[in-house]
Amino acid sequence: MTEIRATYYDGESSRGHDVVVRLDDTDRLCVEAVAGNADPTRLPPELPLELDLKQVRISPRLGNTVRSIAFPSGAKCESTDNDALDQLQARTGTGRGLALVHLLETHWQGAVAAVVVLAVVAVVGFTWGVPALARQVAMRVPDALAYDLGKGTLSTLDKTLFHSSTLPPQRQEELQSRFTELSQHFAGLPLHLELRSGAANAFALPDGTVVMTDELVELAENDDEIVGVLAHEVGHVQGRHAMRMALESSAVGLFAFAYFGDASQLSTILGAMPAMLANSHYSQAHETEADDFAMQYLDSVHVSPAHLAAILQRLGEHHDTDDSGPNYLSSHPPTAERVQRLTGQRR
Ligand SMILES: [Zn+2]
Repeated sequence: MTEIRATYYDGESSRGHDVVVRLDDTDRLCVEAVAGNADPTRLPPELPLELDLKQVRISPRLGNTVRSIAFPSGAKCESTDNDALDQLQARTGTGRGLALVHLLETHWQGAVAAVVVLAVVAVVGFTWGVPALARQVAMRVPDALAYDLGKGTLSTLDKTLFHSSTLPPQRQEELQSRFTELSQHFAGLPLHLELRSGAANAFALPDGTVVMTDELVELAENDDEIVGVLAHEVGHVQGRHAMRMALESSAVGLFAFAYFGDASQLSTILGAMPAMLANSHYSQAHETEADDFAMQYLDSVHVSPAHLAAILQRLGEHHDTDDSGPNYLSSHPPTAERVQRLTGQRR
């Protein structure tokens, strides 16, 4: 039999009543007014109260703060008799996790250990958790917002990096129809192709715009290579990689959106996208994902992924000799590694 002195509040008035809470061996909890201590006419009519231990919720032990036993009716008992409440909680079989918190609070060595554990969790979280969370958030961003982001990016890049394409109109049309063929497989994505002139390059913007340069087209030995590159870029759109990259670089905005659904933070982060696209690379994981996406597509249209591998390799060699402009397609992860994956070779 456990007995606890407590103050009973009926959930409606702020008036407290001195009570004794008893737990018998069959887990029945009984709450009754302390005899002779109160005017019986002013006691809440539900007292004495009897109910099953399973029906109550006992607040966790946190230092020496007042704890409560909450009843389904909205009424509660408050007490500082921590040991007795712990016994009660042990009988309910809950609260183990928070008991650990209390243990750490009362033992400084434990507190130090907690700080160390927290630091490790933070490092691990930022290394693996942030990309994972960024992926979840990016995938949860509504289509309309996702595709709206980075809209000004191309016009910014046009002012700084690109000129109009100088490919003959007929060639441009051919490339467009190649891209349309590809897009038809991904009807949910707002894809379109923009041709430009600049360094040999191709990249994707979050709004579904894929940009490819004349120089890349000229570097290709056949159109299957170009289709491979375009499929890789569509993989970046489909995986929302640009947005994930932006989110990963701004953990604050990421958490704001993940936990509070605050999209205003997102537009701020993504406003910085042109600069980011020009200055950084997709992560190794994103490139691998886009390569896998391309491989799957090429496989479905019976084109060998070796074509993508071939142009990547040529592009890598090309960038080794020509260092002008950022190279979105190559170098990260090392081209050789990607070529090996695409051609199915193991090292
Ligand atoms: Zn890529």
